[in-house]
Order: sequence, then C-alpha cells, then structure tokens
Amino acid sequence: MHARDSMMERVTANVFTTTRLRGCNPSFVTTSDGVVVIDTPQLPTRAVAMRAEAESHGPIRYLINTEHHVDHIFGNYWFKGSGIVVEHQGLFDNFMVVTPDLDPFAYALEAIPTDDPEAVSITPDRDDYYRDPNKATVVFTGDLTLRLGDHTFNLIHTPGHTPGQVAVHVPEERAVFTGDTIFSECQTWLMTSNVDQWLEALERIRRLDVEHLIPGHGPVTTLTYVDTQRAVLLEWKAAVADAVAKGWTREETMARVRFDDRYPVDVGQGYMMEHIQTLNAGTLWDKFSALGFAKGR
Ligand SMILES: [Zn+2]
Repeated sequence: MHARDSMMERVTANVFTTTRLRGCNPSFVTTSDGVVVIDTPQLPTRAVAMRAEAESHGPIRYLINTEHHVDHIFGNYWFKGSGIVVEHQGLFDNFMVVTPDLDPFAYALEAIPTDDPEAVSITPDRDDYYRDPNKATVVFTGDLTLRLGDHTFNLIHTPGHTPGQVAVHVPEERAVFTGDTIFSECQTWLMTSNVDQWLEALERIRRLDVEHLIPGHGPVTTLTYVDTQRAVLLEWKAAVADAVAKGWTREETMARVRFDDRYPVDVGQGYMMEHIQTLNAGTLWDKFSALGFAKGR
C-alpha cells in the first residue's frame, strides 16, 4: 500500500489513528510481532479498509474495544478472524444489547445510506449480525496488561462515560488512547454517564507519562486537554445543579442549560446537537433530583 493511499494519520512511528471518520477515532499500533487494533470504524467499508491497512503492517494479534457504544464496536464484525478480541466485563455485558432507549443495530444502520452507501452489499441482516458480532473472547475486570513484541499495552479501567470504559496506555510510544473519556474539541455526550466517576478517570489519565493523547473523538491532543475535559464536565454539573436549585423543571432546564456554542459535534453528526444538549441536561437533572437536590421529586 502506498503512503498516499493511507486512511490513517501517523501519530508516532507505530501509532496510527483516524480522526476524520463519522464514528470514533479507530486506531492501531504496530509492533515487532504484529498489530494491535483499538476500536473499529463504525462504517463497514471503512472497517474493511482499516483492517487491510493494519494487516499491511503484520497480522492483527489483538483487537481492544474501549467502550460499548456503537461507534466503537460495530465495526468488529468486519474484523472477524483477525485477532483476539479483548474487552472489559462492563463492555462485554453491554455489547450491542437492545434497550428500551436504543436499538444499537438500527442506530448503526441509520448511518449507512448517507455516510457509507457502498456498504449495502457487505452489511449483514440483523440475524446474521447477532449470530457472531465478534465480541471478546478475553474478558477482564480491573486493569489488564498485554505484551506484544517490544510493546506494552496497559488497559486501564476508567469508568464514567460508560461502565466498561478503558484507556489503553502504550508507554513505549508515550501514548494513551482514552476512548470517550476525552472528547477533543467537540461536544461531550454525557447521557448514560456517571460524571463523578468520569472525573476520577481523568485523574488516572493525568498521572500517565505521555506525550500523545488519542481521544475517542476529535483531533489528537496532549495531556493538558484533561483540564479542558474536566472543565466541560464541571460546567455541565454546576449549570444543572444551579437550575435544580432555582427550582427549574426538567423541561425548563433542558431548554435553558446548553453549551452548544462551545464546540461543534464530531464529524458527520451535526444534526445531533439538539439531542446532545437536551439529553445531557435532562439526564443530569434526573440524577440531581433523584439524589434529593430538588424539591418535590
Ligand atoms: Zn464514541
């Protein structure tokens, strides 16, 4: 493969990611004994292309997912047979599980007509997909270290954005893949999150000795962005706590507390801005009210 054909951005000698796709920032790390993939492209043709590019550097040995949201795991299907899939228990338990709020398969398919029309012929139907979506065969709790060639992969449990969230620290590259514990220069999705745990997760990441921070979404950044992400989380918390203290209803809070002027939504999902603002505000309002900060609920 010629360098000019690459779909990836090279972060270090061995670290590759792409921040320009709809979905997360899928990535891989090359070692002397093969390749480690970290999250897969949500769009099927992009998943196929990234697999081919990763395999041009050697066989894929491991595929690590950082969280259970569709934009990080749906592409696993097109990586079948290419390496051992490794996931935290909290991710594994939620992998493409249909809930009353979200049908993840339908949500994944929704992106195809607009963002990946050529994928129609390689997209399975629901039954085929669920027969083997390429979930983990190695499932862990706590933290886990993998060694491959001369590289170390420290999988650090960093719950908050989701319960099974992990960051992947590669000390030899002075790099960390944070998943959605960091949304770099784009809107933070915090519904379904535990914001207090998330703030603790940021402190675990802050302690790492790294130069390159590959976020779940948005441009590659550095460790100093941890402070920006903390400020975003604290602003949301404070603003909704203040709304509850003023006696605003859920509807008033959703209408009036918003941070849509700060950042755009990540690639291809601008139409979700209203959804993010109202659900972020609404779910925080629910939590603060349930904890007894609000009267009468
Ligand atoms: Zn994500």
